Amino acid sequence: MSDAKKKAEPLRIVLYPDPILTKKARALTPAELKAGKADGLDLREFSQRMLLTMYDADGLGLAAPQVGVSLRLWVADGSEHRDHPLVVINPELLDPSGKLEMEEGCLSIPEVRGKVKRFQTLKVRGVDPDGNPVEFVAADLLARVAQHETDHLDGVLFITRLGTASRFLIRSKLRTLEEEYEVMQRRKKKT
Ligand SMILES: [Zn+2]
Repeated sequence: MSDAKKKAEPLRIVLYPDPILTKKARALTPAELKAGKADGLDLREFSQRMLLTMYDADGLGLAAPQVGVSLRLWVADGSEHRDHPLVVINPELLDPSGKLEMEEGCLSIPEVRGKVKRFQTLKVRGVDPDGNPVEFVAADLLARVAQHETDHLDGVLFITRLGTASRFLIRSKLRTLEEEYEVMQRRKKKT
């Protein structure tokens, strides 16, 4: 496969309960940001592939651990026409205000949805793949995505933020995913 072809393909999304999803991702160092490279990845290229993967899967956001990379980077697009791509490295969420409960899902936990209470507005601060500072105010849907994706960088899945009743409802779906994961791991060991 040529490099050009590879770049145009979406990345494989890691599924629950892969342990990388509950691991805290590390921050990129100033030296890595200056070089635009970390863990053998070109940050600009990687971000573009993350965006491609997110759009391809019809997601609102995607965090690096969801494609098997334990670095503090996420991409998102909360716009109506899906034409406002965002890449945030080493994100910080500041000045949270208001609370809003809404249904949520996750590309790494297919077919599982549940209501999560999140802050309604906040400020997102971080760095872009060129090392330039990024800062914007996020409200409603985008604020929700920013919190969901930043949670991923801390190894926190939205299912742990659900109330007892919602958690009970998704129990069997989670068990199915856990069984599928086990089968896959056993298959991997054999080959
Ligand atoms: Zn998610």
